[in-house]
Amino acid sequence: MKKKKQQFIEPQLSVSELSHALYEANKKLAKVNNDLIATQHERDIIFANISHDLRSPITAIRNTIELLRTSDDLSREEFNRLLDLMDARSNYLEHLINDVFLLSSLEVNQKINMSPENIGMFLEEFFFTAEADNKYKDRNLQLEVPEDFPYLVKIDPNLFLRVLDNLFSNALKYSEENATITLGASYADSIVTIWVKDTGIGMSEEHLPHIFDRTYRIDQARTPGAKSGCGLGLSIVKNIIDKHHGTIRCTSKLNEGSCFFIDLPVFKERK
Ligand code: ADP
Repeated sequence: MKKKKQQFIEPQLSVSELSHALYEANKKLAKVNNDLIATQHERDIIFANISHDLRSPITAIRNTIELLRTSDDLSREEFNRLLDLMDARSNYLEHLINDVFLLSSLEVNQKINMSPENIGMFLEEFFFTAEADNKYKDRNLQLEVPEDFPYLVKIDPNLFLRVLDNLFSNALKYSEENATITLGASYADSIVTIWVKDTGIGMSEEHLPHIFDRTYRIDQARTPGAKSGCGLGLSIVKNIIDKHHGTIRCTSKLNEGSCFFIDLPVFKERK
């Protein structure tokens, strides 16, 4: 068979244009590569944190089991105290595993199930549930959502509950007895702003740009009652708010308290 003669196609770009395009492509590749290395590094830190956070409660549970096994003259009181300790540690483990699972599934699944919700009613329901929750009994809870707040906002109700719950749990964790925790909302220019404010221990300014990072945790020793979490809570919150096309920011003053503001686009004003 006769071979077809190959045609010479004149390049549309000059040599210098080609080398410039190659140079630009190379620069982009180098950037992607650096981003990958940074992500990998971040993941390494998360794994190191998580392994550390998993290890300490497991060690505590093991030691308690050993104590129960080897002591045969424990009073009922001591026995119950050890059971409570194991209960608290396993609750912490469950919490940590749930956080890791949620964060990784948020990163893998790009889509969430959003539907238009009456945001005023949604916030009120959350607030009254928190008020009835025993864990907030030593805090003063306040609601600053206007009675008539006729805005529909597209949210994924389960994920948005998680946001409010994380912010309220932090307000509780990082405050002392009798502190005030406020849930508020306002409307301006097609945006609903929701805030969770506390009169707790606050943070100094240098921490604020980092608190939503996946690996950031302020000194654990400052947590009252050593109840500090694994540092994933706020990055979960930020991830969920990003998926709602919203923004989140925080203002805080050391020893005065913190306020987290969430801005969400309004879907429709209810008639
Ligand atoms: P953690 O699991 O450590 O609570 P988060 O991601 O929820 O992690 O928060 C990150 C850090 O931000 C915490 O270690 C804590 O020091 C600080 N922080 C978060 N919320 C508050 C708050 N309401 N008041 C003071 N500090 C807070």
